[in-house]
Amino acid sequence: MPAATPADERRGDAPAPGTIVAPGLVDAHIHPDKSSWGGPWMSRKPAASLADFIANDLATQRSYTRSVEERAHALLSTALANGTLAMRAHVDVSHELGTRNVEGVRAAAERLAPWLTVQIVAFPQFGLLTNPGTLEAMAASLDAGADLVGGIDPLGLEGDVAGHLDAVFGLAERAGRDLDLHLHDGGEDGLAQIREIAARTAAAGMQGRVTVSHAFALADATLPSRAETLDRVAEAGLWVTSCALGDDPVLDPALLEQHGVDYALGSDGVRDAWTPFGTGSMVDRAHLFAYRTGAMTDDALERCYRAASVHGGRLLGIPELAEPVAAGAATRLEFAGESLAQVVVDRPAPIAVVRDGRAAPGR
Ligand SMILES: [Zn+2]
Repeated sequence: MPAATPADERRGDAPAPGTIVAPGLVDAHIHPDKSSWGGPWMSRKPAASLADFIANDLATQRSYTRSVEERAHALLSTALANGTLAMRAHVDVSHELGTRNVEGVRAAAERLAPWLTVQIVAFPQFGLLTNPGTLEAMAASLDAGADLVGGIDPLGLEGDVAGHLDAVFGLAERAGRDLDLHLHDGGEDGLAQIREIAARTAAAGMQGRVTVSHAFALADATLPSRAETLDRVAEAGLWVTSCALGDDPVLDPALLEQHGVDYALGSDGVRDAWTPFGTGSMVDRAHLFAYRTGAMTDDALERCYRAASVHGGRLLGIPELAEPVAAGAATRLEFAGESLAQVVVDRPAPIAVVRDGRAAPGR
């Protein structure tokens, strides 16, 4: 048990002047198995297409000399020190990789278990229908540390919407697991896939248990069926996650709330073959989300903190991370500052990270 900190001694009291008490951060979408975190600087090759990125990713993963567990533990430890108390990790599973990345991330997570909850999605990054043997590896990974079933671009990568959705919904239903699909596909094709996922979610009685990650098509205001699609998403209890990435489309939180759509924020890749950016800090990610969506008022800035915290807590089903917290709460963060809006702009590291009354390592 770590020694009590000054923060613990204040439990039950009002926060010290100049201290903000905030709910723990939740990273709703991250890829720890791909990350180079904690190792030497990695130079990246250019990529012009999704196929290029995927080829670079596979080559990079093969070139790492540090294990999945070592790299993932380095990133998870940094995220925890920056106030992340839960995350949903999309971890590669394929015919070639088998379940080894899932086992590595699960081993890393167990070393931080009292403080950090890690949900693992079995993610078919290298194709499912297009990479025979991957569905079997995904099923095996659910017995090797994965919690959810993943999916990826049924049309853009797989070229078979019905076939891909039959496979991932079928596995999720057979195994009794939730589902979280990557969908980069844009345009009306992207929206049509989102409506199909919503329809299948409702038909399977999986309201609240299916997430579409990225959902770039929902960020395109020029698409005629966007508003109707947002309504279908809300009716089916489908979650969406956004990551405020580079020049990729970012979902508008005000629009999502107007349509009653549940959403949460994630990091996506951190210093991997896909991007040189990322810090593992969800305060940084809330800042990027605020910047990319033009947050101006304190309300708009604080909404970005909620997207990076309590929304993710609801998505992951963790009660102590799903609600605002008061001073003295057993699970909480503390920041130096005047308001959460200021925290989102200034991006400080937390001065206290406490889960169930225990200060996190390094805090
Ligand atoms: Zn991702």
